[in-house]
Amino acid sequence: MTNNIEIAKIFSDIADILEIKSENQFRIRAYRRAAQNIEGLTEDVADITNREELLRIPGIGKDLAEKIAEFIDTGKIRFFEKLKREVPKVSLELITIPGIGPKTAKILIKQLKIKSIRELEKRAKAHKLATLPGIRRKTEENILRGIQIINKGRERMPLGVALPLAEEIISHLTKTPGTKQIAACGSLRRQKETIRDIDILVTSRNPKKVMDAFVKLPLIREVLAHGSTKSSAIVKESTQVDIRVVKPRSFGAALMYFTGSKEHNIHIRELAAKKGFKINEYGIFNAKTHKRLGGNTEEQIYKILGLGFVPPELREDAGEIETAKKDKLPKLIGLNDIRGDLHVHTKASDGSNSIDELAEAAMKKGYEYIVISDHSKTLRVAGGLQERELLNQIKAIKKINKRFRGFRILAGTEVDIINDGSLDFDDKILAQLDIVIAAIHTGFKQSKEKLTMRIVKAMQNKYVNIVSHLTGRLIGAREPYPLNLEEIFRAAKETNTALEISAYPQRLDLNDTNSKKARESGIMFSLGTDLHAIEHFENMRYGVSVARRGWLEKKDILNTYPAAQLLRKIKKN
Ligand SMILES: [Zn+2]
Ligand SMILES: [Zn+2]
Repeated sequence: MTNNIEIAKIFSDIADILEIKSENQFRIRAYRRAAQNIEGLTEDVADITNREELLRIPGIGKDLAEKIAEFIDTGKIRFFEKLKREVPKVSLELITIPGIGPKTAKILIKQLKIKSIRELEKRAKAHKLATLPGIRRKTEENILRGIQIINKGRERMPLGVALPLAEEIISHLTKTPGTKQIAACGSLRRQKETIRDIDILVTSRNPKKVMDAFVKLPLIREVLAHGSTKSSAIVKESTQVDIRVVKPRSFGAALMYFTGSKEHNIHIRELAAKKGFKINEYGIFNAKTHKRLGGNTEEQIYKILGLGFVPPELREDAGEIETAKKDKLPKLIGLNDIRGDLHVHTKASDGSNSIDELAEAAMKKGYEYIVISDHSKTLRVAGGLQERELLNQIKAIKKINKRFRGFRILAGTEVDIINDGSLDFDDKILAQLDIVIAAIHTGFKQSKEKLTMRIVKAMQNKYVNIVSHLTGRLIGAREPYPLNLEEIFRAAKETNTALEISAYPQRLDLNDTNSKKARESGIMFSLGTDLHAIEHFENMRYGVSVARRGWLEKKDILNTYPAAQLLRKIKKN
C-alpha cells in the first residue's frame, strides 16, 4: 500500500513545515492526525478514493480529501510542492535527522543561522548548541548521533536497494551480443547489508559493445567515464556503477580480486606467497618461473592453494581461510532450503492481505507453511488484535487449513513484550497457538539491563518460541538498542527459544556478526520476512544472505524443516 505510506508521509511533512512556519496549531494537528489515520488504513486509499468514500476516514475533511484525490490522480500535491518552497531548504534537511523535530530545527536556523547539516555537525561538536535556550546537552548528543546515522545511510545503500539495481543492469547487459560471463562483485557479491558502489565484471568477445550498451542504459543519470574496457556511471539512487571487461581466462582471478574483501585477499596472497605462488587479478602464477597456473575460475585458484571454494559471503578474513584449510567450511544455507515464512502479517493488523491470499501466494512459491503472526493488542498503531479477534483468527485458520493438502497455515502471534517483560497476551491465549513470536516495539530508550531483562523474561515463558528483530535497529534510521547479547544467547539456548533473522530489508536483525556469535552459542534461528504485503515474500533472500554471512547451515534454521518436525523442534522443556 505505497499510496497510503506516501500520502501519510506527505501529510506529516506538511505538518512539520507548518510548524516551522509557526502556523495555526489546530491545522498542524489536523495534518498529523490525518497522516496517522491514513497510515493505519487496512485498504489502499486509492480504492477508497475510487468509491468516493474518503470523507468516511476519520479526520479527513473536504480539503484533505481533495488533496488525497489529487495525489492519486497526479502523483503529487501542489500545495505541498508550494509549501516546500516557502521555508529554507535546510530546514527540510534538518528535520530528516533523527532527534530533530520542527521546533528544534526552527531554533537552530533562527539562532545559529545554520545553513547545512555539515555546519550543524561542526557546531554541535564544538558544543555550540547546548548554549541555546531550549536545547539541552542531551539534545546536542542526540543530534550528533542522528547526523552520524544519516551520513552512514547516505554513503551506503541497503542490500535491498543495491541488489535489484545490479540485477537490472546485469539483465540488460546479458542481452548485449558478445557478452559471455557477467557477475556483480565487491561487497554486493559478499551480500553485505549495505553497499557503497556496484562493481560488475564481464567477459565478452566485443568489449566495446558492452561499454556502449552500458553507458546507454535507461537508468543511467550521468556517465563518469567511458573507456574501451572500463566505464563508470551514476545510476538512480545516486549509486556509482563500475563495469570492467576482462579476458575469459582471467575471469576467476578478477572476480576474486574485485570481490574482496581486502582483508581476505591479503591473507590469501600471503598464503600463496608461502607456497611459492603469486596471485593477482590476471591469474595465479609460479612465483619463480612466472608460469601461469590458472585463473579462469575461482575454484581453480582456491584448489591450487589447497583450499576448498570459499563462498563470497564468508570472505571477511574472519576465520574462513583457517577453516578452509581444515576442510571444515560450513555448508551454507540456500534460498531453496526454505520451506516457509515464519513471520507474516495479515490485514487483521497492519498487513494488506487476507489469510487466503497469503496462503495462495505462499503455495505458488512452493512453500509448505506460513506463520500468521499479527500484532497484539497494546500495539494499537499497528492494529494489534484483541484476544477475541485472535481466537477468531485461530478458528478461521483451522477452517481454511481443511482445504489444503501439503500446505499448512500455522496460527501464531507477534506478541508484544511489554515494559516489565511480561507478554501482551496471557498464557491461556498463547497455549492455543502453534507458534509464538515475541518482540519489543516500545521503550527503546531503556537501559541495557532493563531491555535485556525484558527479552530474557519473555524467553522464559514456555509458549514463546521465537524472539523477532532482537536489537530493534533500522538500517540508516535507528541504531540497535543496547543489549547484553551473551546473556540473551545463553537464555535462548537454555529455554530453547529461537532468534529471528528478520529478512525485512531495513531490519536484517539479527545481523551477520550477531548471527555468527549466536551460532557459536548453539541456538536455533528462524527466518521471517515480517511481511506486510504479498510482494514481501520475495525479501526472504535478504534473510538468507545474512544467514550465509553468519555461517549458518540448513540445520540451524527452523524453516528448513517440514512443518511437523519444525513444531517438534520448537517444543520447550
Ligand atoms: Zn515487529
Ligand atoms: Zn512483524
